[in-house]
Amino acid sequence: MRKLIIAGIASLLATSTAYAEGVTEADLANDTATAGDILTNGMGRHLQRHSPLATLNKENVKNLVPAWAFSLGGEKQRGQETQPLIHDGIMYITGSYSRMYALDVKTGRELWQYDARLPEGILPCCDVVNRGAAIYGDKVYFGTLDARIVALNAKTGDVVWRKKIADYKAGYSYTAAPLIVDGLIITGNSGGEFGIVGEVQARDTETGELVWTRPVIEGHMGTLNGEESTMTGTLNATWPGDLWKTGGGATWLGGSYDAETDTLVFGTGNPAPWNSWLRDAGQKDDGSGDNLYAASRLGINPKNGEIKWHFQTTPREGWDYDGVNEVVAYSNRNGEKRWATADRNGFFYVLNREDGKFVRGVPFVKDISWAKGLDENGRPIWNEENRPGDPTKAADGKKGEVVFSSPSFLGGKNWMPMAFSPKTGNFYVPSNEWGMDIWNEPVTYKKGAAYLGSGFTIKPNYEDHIGSLKAIDPDTGELKWEFKNEAPLWAGVMTTAGGLVFTGTPEGEFIAFDDETGEKLWSFQTGSGIVGQPVTWEQDGEQFVSVISGWGGAVPLWGGEVAKKVNYLNQGGTLWTFRLPKQLASAN
Ligand code: CA
Ligand code: CA
Repeated sequence: MRKLIIAGIASLLATSTAYAEGVTEADLANDTATAGDILTNGMGRHLQRHSPLATLNKENVKNLVPAWAFSLGGEKQRGQETQPLIHDGIMYITGSYSRMYALDVKTGRELWQYDARLPEGILPCCDVVNRGAAIYGDKVYFGTLDARIVALNAKTGDVVWRKKIADYKAGYSYTAAPLIVDGLIITGNSGGEFGIVGEVQARDTETGELVWTRPVIEGHMGTLNGEESTMTGTLNATWPGDLWKTGGGATWLGGSYDAETDTLVFGTGNPAPWNSWLRDAGQKDDGSGDNLYAASRLGINPKNGEIKWHFQTTPREGWDYDGVNEVVAYSNRNGEKRWATADRNGFFYVLNREDGKFVRGVPFVKDISWAKGLDENGRPIWNEENRPGDPTKAADGKKGEVVFSSPSFLGGKNWMPMAFSPKTGNFYVPSNEWGMDIWNEPVTYKKGAAYLGSGFTIKPNYEDHIGSLKAIDPDTGELKWEFKNEAPLWAGVMTTAGGLVFTGTPEGEFIAFDDETGEKLWSFQTGSGIVGQPVTWEQDGEQFVSVISGWGGAVPLWGGEVAKKVNYLNQGGTLWTFRLPKQLASAN
């Protein structure tokens, strides 16, 4: 009897210890399969944004109804780009101006709120957004606009630790959802328009202490356990003079993780400044003006921060075609391990997951003007006359020749994540059809000042739409279907095993599409523009879907012809949760 009681107490203790430990590496690794919680950005660190749930399907999605809504409140109603996380009955969302909220997932009641105290003089380039949190152990983590990372007690919201990623006075900021792998919290940085240097950092999740750093511009030294490790690339191999010291390459959208090859993949933004003539990017094809590793994807060893491989989407970049867009790990219809990414530059790339080697690349927007195509290695075949002119050749030496380039600097696709469906084998890509007049100007680096050497005016390519959600077959590059939207699309996409594709529009509609035909099956007007990322989960035998509504992000910050498509839209900040009631799940 006594033995039994002791065994009982021991098992209780074991349970409570496991409970105190909270989210484990195994939980993160299995996130996609466990439909009762959402523990990672991307609904799995492969970033497929696919749910295996099929309770909600093409037939019954018309019965999806609001369950609750939560207002972020305050006067800080700016772009809301968060992806909710759900664990142990709590939903975690982040909001504009570096705020975080914990909500009762069943009712939407607020449990706690954390507002970062942001200093004067922060320099976010493109709205004061935040794209979501990370969860591990008993803590939740998110980055703040003053380029810091904060660990909070997941139950109380109390600060456990708070660390500086970089100096906000030099233009650094932080907006991405952090990534957690094997007890390390891995972050990038923002600020590519200020001549910062892109970097990936890994910290101990318990203490916040740095484990390794990997700057992404050649010539800079990495660190491991507080000591110098290796230099990134080869000094001055592809950068002239000292420009690498302020070379850009912001790793601002964070990364993905592929457990099968144990590889982190981070993208890097534009080289700085935008004016490529200052970076020796003239009429060369010997690679000397490529400016590695800006506008690239990097495969990184999560244990020590060493670069395993790189793939540069836009060498000699001169249009602000940041190479940061998410890289999704998937297996194609033949079971081959692949990565896919839809770049700002307008091309959709498939890479080999083992070594990052180029497999194929196809245009996913209509009017790419800066390149004629890609060669067998995925290197662009440039239209040299579409590079903005060298200002030193201009009569006044100040404004180079203006060219019309497409896509625009906001890209054929920007940050808003695409989704993959293992059910159809297709990617669902939120894209935009727009271009720009762009020109180059002289510029010199000044700490904390914009470092562009370029001017631009953004323009729609078509009268009736800019936004275009595309279903793309990654094996052939074939466009399966397209949904056109008047305003530019800026929200994340999600697929489900029930055959649905969810996304939202700046006009406020939250929409479910048929994954095979693109037919609009259901929609709901959320009251403000959607630039957030939908999720779905299971609770008490019912399927739920959530998305945040709150117009903002980079689009409304720029004028030009595009402003006419969006300047009437109202701001907001509401998390909407929808439910398919059990009794309606089988109804037609
Ligand atoms: Ca899960
Ligand atoms: Ca940029």
